[in-house]
Amino acid sequence: SKKDEKDNLTAVLYGIEDLRLEQRPIPKIADDEVLLKMDCVGICGSDVHYLVHGRIGDFVLTKPMIIGHEASGIVAKVGKKVKHLVVGDRVACEPGVPCRYCNYCKAGQYNLCLGMIFCATPPYDGNLTRYYKHAADFCYKLPDHMTMEEGALLEPLSCGVHACRRAGVRLGSKVLVLGAGPIGLVTLAAAQAMGAVQVMITDLVQQRLDVAKKLGATHTLLIDKDDCAEDLAKKVREIMGVEPDKAIDCCGAESTTRLSVFATRSGGCVVIVGMGGAESKVPLINALVREVDIRGVFRYCNDYPAALALVASGKVNVKRLITHHFDITETAKAFETARHGHGGAIKVMIHVQPRDTNN
Ligand code: NAD
Ligand code: ZN
Repeated sequence: SKKDEKDNLTAVLYGIEDLRLEQRPIPKIADDEVLLKMDCVGICGSDVHYLVHGRIGDFVLTKPMIIGHEASGIVAKVGKKVKHLVVGDRVACEPGVPCRYCNYCKAGQYNLCLGMIFCATPPYDGNLTRYYKHAADFCYKLPDHMTMEEGALLEPLSCGVHACRRAGVRLGSKVLVLGAGPIGLVTLAAAQAMGAVQVMITDLVQQRLDVAKKLGATHTLLIDKDDCAEDLAKKVREIMGVEPDKAIDCCGAESTTRLSVFATRSGGCVVIVGMGGAESKVPLINALVREVDIRGVFRYCNDYPAALALVASGKVNVKRLITHHFDITETAKAFETARHGHGGAIKVMIHVQPRDTNN
């Protein structure tokens, strides 16, 4: 209806503890863009962090910003140059659009592009809004049997795929994942799909380990913040029966990074995904004399297609991560739930449209 076509209710973060719903104009698209009628937007830890702290490292909120970046939507308009999408297509939206011209972009490492425009990373707007425009080539058409919720979850899943690719997870790998938050859980799922035969996961919270178990973790370990990393490494080896050849730190606390290094077998690989303090105490000589590689991860790069294929083929079930559903009009409540982990919240999903029929 005419009313629908003007309603562009949008969640805008004005500053710390100041998230508002307001009307915004519907964006006009360029020739290489599409207009999306947004459907699902998941809440990520970083969205909550901007709400509570107004910054993440050097990314500082200095003006109002639309929140949200784990999203799916339906194509409502296509630019003249767009060939692969038509109006009505259901798509997942990869939230970071790089410059496409720099050496990183040309070399295929576009996640490292300094000109990256990433949804809800200041100063760029996100997509928790009814109408949002996006670069068409960063929209991926979903098969009919995939839900819009799954489309939105391709964002965190891509992080998991990228982390496993960086770690070199392959057939027969024995993987230790540290932290069973949404990122640890998608990393677990990706590792299994990529052929890992054992995936052990640790957390401070038993309920999160229970979810990990349901997702197929072969071993879980409940740990305490103050446990000694070297003792825990021994425990990991005892429980797994071998030393893991990969450790993926999806927490980023000093204690998890230390455990990652101590637990990994000589010649193995440690991947750091979680962002803890800017500096931390890591047993570098231990890593060096045992040729344990330590690698970083920044978001993802060319990983959306694999994440989509994993879900479409049924190899990965991301739906289990969603614990709560809210309508966009309940955005404040959704953020409260995500922030305080009410009701064992893991992934909180915001629906901009009525819930998809094939959920
Ligand atoms: P989260 O806070 O929900 O999950 C972290 C989990 O680690 C929690 O379940 C917590 O209980 C657990 N934990 C805390 N201390 C622990 C310890 N000592 N040992 C074991 N587990 C412990 O966050 P998330 O959304 O899953 O994200 C995880 C991390 O990944 C965050 O730091 C986030 O900023 C980062 N991240 C990085 C990238 C990247 O590109 N590098 C991308 C996405 C997220
Ligand atoms: Zn670039």
